[in-house]
Amino acid sequence: SLNGTWAEAWIRECAGVIAEHRAELNTLDRAIGDGDHGENMDRGFQAVVLKLDALPSGSTPGEVLKLVATTLISTVGGASGPLFGTAFLKAAIAVSGADTLHAAATVALLTAARDGIVLRGKAQVGDKTMIDAWTPAVDAAIDSQHAGESVVTLLERAADAAATGALATEPLVAHKGRASYLGERAIGHRDPGAESTTLLLRAAAETAA
Ligand code: ADP
Ligand code: MG
Ligand code: MG
Repeated sequence: SLNGTWAEAWIRECAGVIAEHRAELNTLDRAIGDGDHGENMDRGFQAVVLKLDALPSGSTPGEVLKLVATTLISTVGGASGPLFGTAFLKAAIAVSGADTLHAAATVALLTAARDGIVLRGKAQVGDKTMIDAWTPAVDAAIDSQHAGESVVTLLERAADAAATGALATEPLVAHKGRASYLGERAIGHRDPGAESTTLLLRAAAETAA
């Protein structure tokens, strides 16, 4: 079940997959940004893991997410730090007090995360940002909840939708972030933040299964 133990396992898995894909995320960012997205995310999640080691056992998902938020905000430079930081902070608030997340709370977590990023960065779907992964993921999670599927299936559908959304950023021109300075030269390249979002959501599904 999606309890504090899962939340901690999810975040540790995020740190693992981000470290594993660090070079790939840098390469994506080198094509349409400044080449540091993997580095930024890896620095942030390594710091998060150190903080998790000191977190008391029996913490709620909200407490874990809050720790992730404050750590990412203080350790990740660049655009993605405050964006993911706000996502985790809003997600933490959305599930605060809950020991176990059922479908509705899981949808609330994902929706709050996405809304936090939009509040902070003002991107819409189609702007070639991480929102192109987050919004389809939220929509898929809502559909899954309405279909009465398990939380594991819900997270799998969210991750699949994020992956499809990340792929769909390739033919786009960017309207937010560094890639927006490139105009048509951004065409043909996947947005790094949409890719890292997919990794984080895939980790959520895999640790829930
Ligand atoms: P920086 O661009 O400062 O080097 P990163 O490379 O870590 O920061 O992150 C870049 C990612 O941030 C982009 O791939 C994009 O997904 C995301 N991003 C940038 N600006 C915005 C925004 N306004 N709204 C949503 N996401 C954004
Ligand atoms: Mg960058
Ligand atoms: Mg940078």
